[in-house]
Amino acid sequence: MLFKYLDSIRAGLASLAFDCSCIICGASESEFCIRCRANWRSSPQRISGESFPVSSSVPYSETAKAIVLLAKENGVKFTRDLVVAELLAAIKVLTRELELTREINLVPIPSSRKARVRRGFDFISQITSTLTKELNKESDSTRFFARPILSITKRVVDQSGLTEIQRRENLFGAFEVAKPFNSTAPIIIVDDVITTGSTLREAVRALKERNLTVLGASTACASQRRLLIR
Ligand SMILES: [Zn+2]
Repeated sequence: MLFKYLDSIRAGLASLAFDCSCIICGASESEFCIRCRANWRSSPQRISGESFPVSSSVPYSETAKAIVLLAKENGVKFTRDLVVAELLAAIKVLTRELELTREINLVPIPSSRKARVRRGFDFISQITSTLTKELNKESDSTRFFARPILSITKRVVDQSGLTEIQRRENLFGAFEVAKPFNSTAPIIIVDDVITTGSTLREAVRALKERNLTVLGASTACASQRRLLIR
């Protein structure tokens, strides 16, 4: 009888431990284990290497990749909140440096139709709406607007296997401002990750083609070499 009782307690504890495994790596420790937490290091800053201002926060790693993917492909709220928090911090790095601006437009990098259909939502667009709400809650002087004005004009192949030159060719002319757009407020481009920068450069090109003012771009993560870790 007693053994049976102990067994059921053991089973109960085991199921508890299972419930408490890390969302990212599965380690049975906590929902967000110490190792994954250490790899998701918030260090919001301006990053170099582009002809326009770019800010980012978390060094891109296998953990960061998994966090972004869970948010992007599976809509996991916990990881989505992590991405939103770092994007907010990155955007603030850019806006802090600015003179008082009454309005700022946040323009998300568009997802391909295929990705939108697969996910059932447009990840960066959705995140940009959330960012706008959060930023407007905190700021009295500046109003932020989510402006999903970029669209994809041509079929782009997966960037991962391409060299930097191939990426540039692959993406050149890939974006356009399709809708009529009259706001003259300066723009911050929003994306989840910057690696080579070719996507952001193409977005800047497309926006400038329409004589829009681009303040810069913010991402949640950046490749390790771009971030100065303090
Ligand atoms: Zn973990």
